[in-house]
Amino acid sequence: MLKQPQCKICRREGKKLMLKGERCLSPKCAIVKRNYPPGLHGIKNTRRKISEYGKQLREKQKAKKIYGVLEKVFKKYYEKAISSKGNVSENLINLLEARLDNVVYRSGIASSRKQAKQLVGHGHFFLNKYKTDIPSCQVSIGDIIKIKESKKDKNFFKNLKESLKGKKGQEIPSWINFDKEKMEIKILSNPSISEMDQGFDTKMIIEFYSR
Ligand code: SF4
Repeated sequence: MLKQPQCKICRREGKKLMLKGERCLSPKCAIVKRNYPPGLHGIKNTRRKISEYGKQLREKQKAKKIYGVLEKVFKKYYEKAISSKGNVSENLINLLEARLDNVVYRSGIASSRKQAKQLVGHGHFFLNKYKTDIPSCQVSIGDIIKIKESKKDKNFFKNLKESLKGKKGQEIPSWINFDKEKMEIKILSNPSISEMDQGFDTKMIIEFYSR
């Protein structure tokens, strides 16, 4: 399957999905410059009516793109969310937010989830005492994520402290503590849904899978 350029995905959804790091916060963002669907009939398509099913499908696709997960994985999160105790929407968000790549992104180490996935995949981190290169690995309260000692000499991490100082971007959520001196992330609590704009409607996603 052909890979869609990331900015086109945002334009199709009519929303910033923050897929390209710092570019997303700049005036170069394609949503700022051309906020209509891509393609020859893009502007006309903004007026097209979408069915309820279409809306639910779009919300699900949006969530998958934001977190960079495949359908099979996303459906597993949904199944786990409905079979766990508590609110299904919150369970679903918790499962997505507790991915190791997402935590690396939320800490500010990576400027996008895509970059976070690459950093984790290249084995740059320890989760507690163990090296992990699995971006989907789920973190829990009390977990500590450290940059591998031997990787700290890499230019990316050497420059990180400096770049974090002047970096524009989202605030670190309160459920994560990132010690910039030690370069260490600690999970303090479950993700707090009230402090995030997840950018999609979980209710619609649940309705989509419940059909
Ligand atoms: Fe989306 Fe970022 Fe591209 Fe803007 S720059 S359209 S937010 S991926």
